[in-house]
Amino acid sequence: MNDLKFATLAIHSHQEPDPTTGAVITPIYQTSTFEQEDAGKHKGYDYSRSGNPTRHALEGCLSDLEGGAHGFCFASGLGALTTLSLALFRPGDHILCGDDVYGGTFRYFDKVFRPLGIDTEFIDFTDPEFVAQHIRPNTKALYLETPTNPLLKLVDIEAMVKIAKAKNLITILDNTFASPYLQSGIRFGVDIILHSTTKYIGGHSDVVGGALILKDDQFLTPIKFYQNSLGATPDPFASWLTLRGVKTLAVRMKAHESNARVLAEFLESHPSIEDVIYPGLPSHPQYELAKKQMSGFGGMISVRVKGGLDESRTFMKALKLFTLAESLGGVESLVEHPALMTHLAVDPEHRKAIGITDNLVRISVGIEDVEDLRRDLAQALEQATRIPA
Ligand code: PLP
Repeated sequence: MNDLKFATLAIHSHQEPDPTTGAVITPIYQTSTFEQEDAGKHKGYDYSRSGNPTRHALEGCLSDLEGGAHGFCFASGLGALTTLSLALFRPGDHILCGDDVYGGTFRYFDKVFRPLGIDTEFIDFTDPEFVAQHIRPNTKALYLETPTNPLLKLVDIEAMVKIAKAKNLITILDNTFASPYLQSGIRFGVDIILHSTTKYIGGHSDVVGGALILKDDQFLTPIKFYQNSLGATPDPFASWLTLRGVKTLAVRMKAHESNARVLAEFLESHPSIEDVIYPGLPSHPQYELAKKQMSGFGGMISVRVKGGLDESRTFMKALKLFTLAESLGGVESLVEHPALMTHLAVDPEHRKAIGITDNLVRISVGIEDVEDLRRDLAQALEQATRIPA
């Protein structure tokens, strides 16, 4: 399947018609266990936590989409993170992590992993040299998220991999915001890709899941062992829903991106908006890097509404098509307030220091008609700030 393009792989990779019935779509193998012809002799599956054909189809497909060697799926993105970290790190290890990663990732490393003796240091990852200066003798990994959530900062993947290789560090990339359609970390030599498949990969806000894609065999044994031993695996129906979403990933990402570009430009010229953060705008400080390492700029936009908490609250409540909800990457447009919602777990001081202000609103641009979305934003901004457009 190596010579097939992304959109074809999304539909066909590991999704051949079912050999027993000819069903065109991979069945939901809704079973916890599998018959054995003799003790220990089976057709490749013995118990669904260890392996299930529906989950395997998804794991194989995601691995192919990322250009990896192996895929593993989990019950959530954080299930992928906990499994990965327990498999690879030991007390005394030090991890360097970007300072505005997803709040749940921050919470896990800071509040759950740190008491186990693993020290994660959160620093600005936009300057590779600065990161290199923070490497200690016990540093084991660089944990990258790019673009970041919610400030859409970019990390130079190629430069980070170079730094990591020189010091024998593991590179892990959370590729949730870009999706494999827009960014391939493995092409730059990243060891492990992490996804919250809840977002663009699933794409319909109807299923929670996570994935790890390995570049090669290096970490195959521990990840496979910990996936089974910790048991944070998705059930067959969740795997199937995600696989169903994956089929349209290419067309959805194109639509998210084309809508987001139009809306980012509209918002940038709007008098009620103080600041628009979108990697596809020339005003983004890392626009050149975005063009270099991404094949498109994605569907996420963050804005600072003129005023403060009151204005941003009124703006979000006045929206009719953008639903006020956590999460992102679904076909429907969503809006959320990082300081009060997704990043509430982050220390208020730290939040302030990195720029998660009270007037920051994150928008997940869906694939509705862009003109309807633009009109909705315009009326809500006018209600919030009373500044005529
Ligand atoms: N990584 C990123 C960038 C996220 O936005 C999220 C969730 O919002 C996660 C990881 C965690 O994934 P999940 O919610 O599927 O556990």
